[in-house]
Amino acid sequence: MNFDLTPEQDQLRDAVRALGRKYGHGYFVEKARAGGHTTELWQEAGRLGYLGVNIPTEYGGGGGGITELAIVCEELAAAGCPLLLLVVSPAIAATVINKHGTDEQRKRHLPGLADGSQKIVFAITEPEAGSNFHRLGTVARRDGDDWLLTGRKCYISGVDEAGHVLVVARTEDSSTGKLKPALFIVPTAAPGLEKSKLDMEILSPENQFLLYLDDVRLPADALVGESLDAGLPALFAGLNPERITVAAMGAGTGRYAIERASAYTATRKVWGGRSIGTHQGVAHPLAHAAVQVELARLMIHKAATLYDAGRDLEAGVAGNMAKYAAGEAAALAVDTAVQALGGAGMTTEYGVATLLGAVRAGRIAPVSREMILNFVAQHVLGQDKSY
Ligand SMILES: Cc1cc2nc3c(=O)[nH]c(=O)nc-3n(C[C@H](O)[C@H](O)[C@H](O)COP(=O)(O)OP(=O)(O)OC[C@H]3O[C@@H](n4cnc5c(N)ncnc54)[C@H](O)[C@@H]3O)c2cc1C
Repeated sequence: MNFDLTPEQDQLRDAVRALGRKYGHGYFVEKARAGGHTTELWQEAGRLGYLGVNIPTEYGGGGGGITELAIVCEELAAAGCPLLLLVVSPAIAATVINKHGTDEQRKRHLPGLADGSQKIVFAITEPEAGSNFHRLGTVARRDGDDWLLTGRKCYISGVDEAGHVLVVARTEDSSTGKLKPALFIVPTAAPGLEKSKLDMEILSPENQFLLYLDDVRLPADALVGESLDAGLPALFAGLNPERITVAAMGAGTGRYAIERASAYTATRKVWGGRSIGTHQGVAHPLAHAAVQVELARLMIHKAATLYDAGRDLEAGVAGNMAKYAAGEAAALAVDTAVQALGGAGMTTEYGVATLLGAVRAGRIAPVSREMILNFVAQHVLGQDKSY
């Protein structure tokens, strides 16, 4: 068992930390309040190779794995810049295209994802289906060699910043008549694709959208993979990287909040000469949150290591547990930090309450805590499925 990062991973962690701190939470909040995006940070991270750490070197990436990408996600979040698009673009889209795309799709999309000049977002959630992906209603029909996509998606992050969206649709299996999943790389400018921004109570430079697909015409090679059989494995390929990197983002956010709060409580004095952190009523909740964040980090490390070793089933269990643990720990850490700062905790200046919406959403998306508990109950505890 090895809990140490390699020297290269250590260097990556230090370098990403330095980049994150150069921009910081103030920059993140300023962009969000102005309705802007963290373009400068994204581009610099791309130039430095951090967005493509998990993409093979032949496509301009770093040739590492999800362990490296999780480091990037965690360290930027720990500097107050939790970038959700790291989870959808390099973690989900790049993995799906690399593992299940055609050669042509890899050549076309991976270099741009690696240097950050291209973003591909991910659309699976639908208003009627919600957590039940078996009910997806977005359908792809053949029209000659082309495909026609029709359906609706909701809460899709970053559509305004991306050139393409990886859409999970269904096609009819001609042999059984049943619908099976298929993934399509859809240009966000495609005729028939409309987006409408959702008003969310999350302070973030990244936005969520409703997507309307009305007979969106796509060429045959928009389908991920050579055949329709690639759909299900391609969909599953994105899940573990998604869970692990979103967990890393949560753990980083938790670290950020605890660090801010600890610095404050160690120096704030309201009862004579002692800092408020001397009082266990203040210090213990922070220490408890720190324990929860550290436990989540351990599980993230395990999940990423298993995933990078190709042990997908075990990585699935560990990744779900890591996501659950990190989602809870991040929410606890930010809430505890706000409390420890008192009134200052609710100001924009101290930069912790600004994360309340994001960490609350982290218990719902990209997979809710309840659906993870369902997964663990079924796959770890051997319980029957209740739904
Ligand atoms: C900030 C944010 C960003 C997002 N970005 C994206 C994105 O980029 N792409 C994308 O495709 N989606 C995205 N989503 C959608 C997200 O993945 C879904 O919100 C999530 O999967 C839950 O689906 P739902 O909202 O339809 O909830 P529902 O399925 O309606 O569930 C509502 C509640 O009921 C619970 N529940 C449902 N079924 C069960 C059950 N069987 N047992 C126990 N509890 C159950 C859920 O856990 C939840 O608490 C995003 C969401 C948010 C908030």
